[in-house]
Order: sequence, then structure tokens, then C-alpha cells
Amino acid sequence: MNKKVIVVGGGVSGMTAAGALSELGMEVVLLEKDDHTGGHAGNWDRLFPSRRPGKEVIDFIEKSMSSTVEIRCGSRVTSIDRNTEGFTVNLHNGDPLTAESVVIATGYELFDARKKEEYGYGIYDNVITSAELEAIFKEGRQLVTHNGKTPQRVGLIHCVGSRDEKVGNLYCSKVCCVTGVKQAIEIREMLPGCEVFSFYMDLRMYDRNFEELYYEAQQKWGVNFIRGRLSECAENPDHSLILKTEDTLTGRPLKMTVDLVVLLVGFVPRPETRIISDMLKLQTGSDGFLSPVDEHFKDNSTSVPGLFLAGAVKGPACIVNSIADARATAVQVKAYINGEMVKW
Ligand SMILES: Cc1cc2nc3c(=O)[nH]c(=O)nc-3n(C[C@H](O)[C@H](O)[C@H](O)COP(=O)(O)OP(=O)(O)OC[C@H]3O[C@@H](n4cnc5c(N)ncnc54)[C@H](O)[C@@H]3O)c2cc1C
Ligand code: SF4
Repeated sequence: MNKKVIVVGGGVSGMTAAGALSELGMEVVLLEKDDHTGGHAGNWDRLFPSRRPGKEVIDFIEKSMSSTVEIRCGSRVTSIDRNTEGFTVNLHNGDPLTAESVVIATGYELFDARKKEEYGYGIYDNVITSAELEAIFKEGRQLVTHNGKTPQRVGLIHCVGSRDEKVGNLYCSKVCCVTGVKQAIEIREMLPGCEVFSFYMDLRMYDRNFEELYYEAQQKWGVNFIRGRLSECAENPDHSLILKTEDTLTGRPLKMTVDLVVLLVGFVPRPETRIISDMLKLQTGSDGFLSPVDEHFKDNSTSVPGLFLAGAVKGPACIVNSIADARATAVQVKAYINGEMVKW
């Protein structure tokens, strides 16, 4: 029997699935559209909640992919066909590839903050995203305003593109609250003289050591948390920014001037994954992310036999959950290829 498996997407989920499948004796090809593996997690400097260097985690996963995994970067998958033999995976360049089973691990995209025009991203120079702040930390650059000054006040805005009916995304992106708390601490670490204000609807510190990080942010680092949704960001002639919010704890409208605004952008489904999944008639949720056939018992399986899902392609997830999910997918794939029934 052909035991070849193609994993589409070389982020933490795809790399983990590929490594585990190779350990389980499969012949694995990992297809990644970019010129390197790592996905989004490869862009993060230090990870929440422990602030472990992101590189350490990526390096570990890369090393744990045995040399038997054939990694093909620069390989964008454009469509997948199911036939009696298995699958044909089509690329934007190069010949199609065939396999017995396919894992879709194409992850997510960041919400395009320009769609929240009232927040000024792409209009005002001193409005950046959480991903751009990560890049500043990762490259070891100093955090400065557009004209090179040290900011005295920074505002972090939660739920940008998530939990927002206006942009059509009702879901919570899960990781941006803790990312915001981590980044608030990191700004204070870098610039002790800079005041940091976090504007949130409610804080979703759902996992182990998240709540502790939130306490640390307040007690050790003096980060100010303001319960209120930003309605508008406007620019002063000196390029500082006026934030207009309502403090929902006191019920009072609030106006504050800051030098820099960081938008905590959420997860959105990738349009190109949607094209592939529509061709295969895969289920998606109301959020647009791919859905498994059973959310409790077959949460890595699709309605197409032999086609599996791993990681954030199913919706917002942290790295720990993406790794665990990808490992579970590998076990399911092996069982499918060996013709075994998974009873648990
Ligand atoms: C600002 C921010 C900070 C974060 N910080 C943390 C943190 O500190 N700790 C933590 O646990 N989590 C963090 N996360 C979450 C983390 O990014 C995700 O858990 C992780 O990226 C999910 O990995 P993935 O492999 O499922 O998806 P992705 O990272 O999106 O990887 C998918 C891969 O598939 C590739 N791909 C897509 N389409 C195709 C195609 N058609 N053909 C071939 N390849 C394709 C992509 O290029 C990409 O490499 C953060 C998220 C954000 C937004
Ligand atoms: S994790 Fe926090 S910031 Fe992100 S969408 Fe959910 S509530 Fe908003």
C-alpha cells in the first residue's frame, strides 16, 4: 500500500504533523508556500505566558522532523482532487503530487486592520499592529514613534477584527488578550518611563499562568487596564493620537492622548484555503474556518475519507493546542492508512 502523506502548510501544525507521521513510518511530503517553514509562530519574539523565545520552539519542531520528511518550500497548493487511488495535490508551479492521505494545515491570516478605518491603521503613522510590534521586538529594534521619538504613552486596543459584528466576525480570537498583556509588559520592560494603557471589552485569560501574567502586568509593571471599546482614533497635528472610548465600568466617555497605538489583530480564515475546501465540499463554520465532522470525537477528520485537518485552519488556537492537535491528526492518519478503526 502507498503510505505517502502530503501535509499542506509548514507552520507549527504542519511541521508537527509531518514529524509525527514520519515517526509513525509514513513517507511524508510537507508543502509550504513561503520560502521557509515556521508560519506565523516563526515571527513571534517571545511566547506567552512564559516568554520563552519563539525561535526555541520553532527550532525544536524543525529538528524533530526527521530527515525523512521531504520539505518543499515555495510550493503553494492551489487545489486537491480526490480520486479512487487517493489524492492529487496541485501546485501553482511544478507537477501535481499524489498521496494516500492529505493533511490540511494552512492556518490563518491576520485580520486586515485597514478594514477598521476608524482606528486609523494605514492612515496615521503611529498606529501599528501587534504583529508589527512583535517584529520590532524580534529584530531588537527600539520602540519609537514614526518621527523617531520615545513614546511616553502607548495604547493597546483589544478585539481588532474579532467580536465585532460590523466586520462580520463574531468569534473571539482567543490569544490576543494574553498577547496584549505580554506585549504591555514588554513595552514597560523596554521603556520603563512609558505609560501603557490596555483597552479591553473583557479579558479572556483562559489558560494556565495567563491570569498570573495579568496580575504581573498590573502589580509589577503598572500597566493600566481600561474596560472600554475604542470608538475612534484621531490624529493631532503633532501626530499623537486621540483615543475616544467609553469606560464601560464607570459608564463615562473617555478621551485620551497617546503617542502610539497597537492594534491587537485577530485571526481570519485564509481565502485560498476556502477555495480548496469549497472544491472538496468541506464544511466550514459560521466563522469561515474549516470544521471537522464531529467536534468531540473526530475533530481532525473531514467528510472526505483520507483528508484531515490540523491546527489553526480550524480557528484561533495557541501553539500548545496546535501542536497537540497536529499530533492527534498524525495518529488518525496512520490509522486510516493502515485501515484501522479508531474507537476512542
Ligand atoms: C500577534 C500574535 C502573537 C501570537 N503569539 C503567540 C504566542 O506567544 N504563543 C502561542 O502559543 N501562540 C501565539 N500566537 C498564535 C500562533 O501564531 C498560532 O498558534 C500558530 O501560528 C498556529 O500555527 P498553524 O501552523 O496552525 O498556522 P500558521 O502559523 O498560519 O501556518 C500555516 C502555514 O501554512 C502555509 N500555507 C497556507 N496556505 C498554503 C497553501 N495553499 N499552500 C502551501 N502552504 C500554505 C502558510 O504559509 C503557513 O506557513 C500568536 C498569534 C498572533 C496573531
Ligand atoms: S482574545 Fe481578547 S482581544 Fe482577542 S478577541 Fe478575544 S476578547 Fe478580544
